[in-house]
Amino acid sequence: MLYYSTNNSSERVDFKEATMLGQAPDGGLYFPERIPLVPDEIIRNLSGFEPAELAFQVIAPYVGSLIPEKELRQIVAETVDFPFPLVHITDNIHALELYHGPTLAFKDVGARFMSRCLSYFIRDSGQKITVLVATSGDTGSAVANGFFGVAGIEVVILYPSGKVSMVQELQLTTYGGNITALEIDGSFDDCQRLVKQAFRDEELRKQCALTSANSINVARWLPQQFYYFFALRAWAHKDQPPVIAVPSGNFGNLCAGLIAHLSGLPVAHFVAACNSNDVVTAYLNGEGYHPKAPVVTMSNAMDVADPSNFVRMLELFHDDVNAMQARVTGYTISEEATRMAISEVHTDTGYIMDPHGAVAYAGLQQYLREHGQQPGILLETAAPIKFADVVEPIIGKKIAIPATLASLYNKEKQSIKLKGTYAVLKEFLLK
Ligand SMILES: *Cc1c(COP(=O)(O)O)cnc(C)c1O
Repeated sequence: MLYYSTNNSSERVDFKEATMLGQAPDGGLYFPERIPLVPDEIIRNLSGFEPAELAFQVIAPYVGSLIPEKELRQIVAETVDFPFPLVHITDNIHALELYHGPTLAFKDVGARFMSRCLSYFIRDSGQKITVLVATSGDTGSAVANGFFGVAGIEVVILYPSGKVSMVQELQLTTYGGNITALEIDGSFDDCQRLVKQAFRDEELRKQCALTSANSINVARWLPQQFYYFFALRAWAHKDQPPVIAVPSGNFGNLCAGLIAHLSGLPVAHFVAACNSNDVVTAYLNGEGYHPKAPVVTMSNAMDVADPSNFVRMLELFHDDVNAMQARVTGYTISEEATRMAISEVHTDTGYIMDPHGAVAYAGLQQYLREHGQQPGILLETAAPIKFADVVEPIIGKKIAIPATLASLYNKEKQSIKLKGTYAVLKEFLLK
């Protein structure tokens, strides 16, 4: 499999180069030259495969021969070695819980896969590489966890000061070692802009081998297809594919779902559920693509004003908004509706959703109201405890603290505060 840049389809690189570079030098995102079909025997018998086997079958064509089968199987097995339960919530709504990994959010899958691929690629080469990543909250900790202590890799995380939850901040600032957290005076979009600027800076890239661990990077982005295969693997209504609602910020997750679908996975429809940062919702409603200033919300991991992966959505549908609308419906979910969703579901069923899952729940409900009741799945992307400060007042009770988090509260935050200008970041990286 080769990958081309969304800015120039003639220059192609393989999986290794795409992973090592992160973003294409011309500022585009790498995109697979074709979408391989998953064999029918697998699609018809998903529940007959163990998750790790299924995941291997899905990702292998994207990696090609660059990682030997035995090694790739090992990487995949380590990536998905925690449960992905599909939980029934109400009559026809289920939640696929993607938060049982080490940092309690779905980004663990992509981060674990990518860190292992990268470490395979640089092992024995003596090469050093800096992973530069912007985080709206959950990516940073997943990447830090995935790369902590990996020889030859330095991780530099940019996060928006004051705009991540307490648990998120502790998770990404307490590793030390090869992990550095930069606390940027600005928004997530500012962080993302700085990272992209660094990738375009040839002078910097000559002196410092850089890669990205955002969903810009194909090794972070593509394994997110696994969630959708796991959802269908656990799906009981074999004759009725689900509507799947994806809480979306940078749109890596939804884009991975679309690829899974185009490779043969039956999905009735996708709901792109956004908070007030709804530039893609507007596009899906036929209003064109016009990024606005980012808005701070409770579902902070989705506070993205200009999503990176939108170019990949355009690529998937050949810039045809009608084709995109045929598969994806976008909804904007207000803070009030998000609170209501958390509160109602908890009162009616006892199930506790985090704000991101709640946005997806509200989007799914709206779709089912408008298009007829049918079974649906929302992706529950983070553990409610990560957003205890938001969720506990709504449900009126404390959420139990898992053992994995308890030790975190005693650790000390270590971050370097930086102004949100590129000159300051560059100086830091060259040091
Ligand atoms: C990152 C994140 C999202 C948004 O995912 P994208 O792939 O950026 O659209 C949603 N929920 C949580 C909890 C996240 O961490």
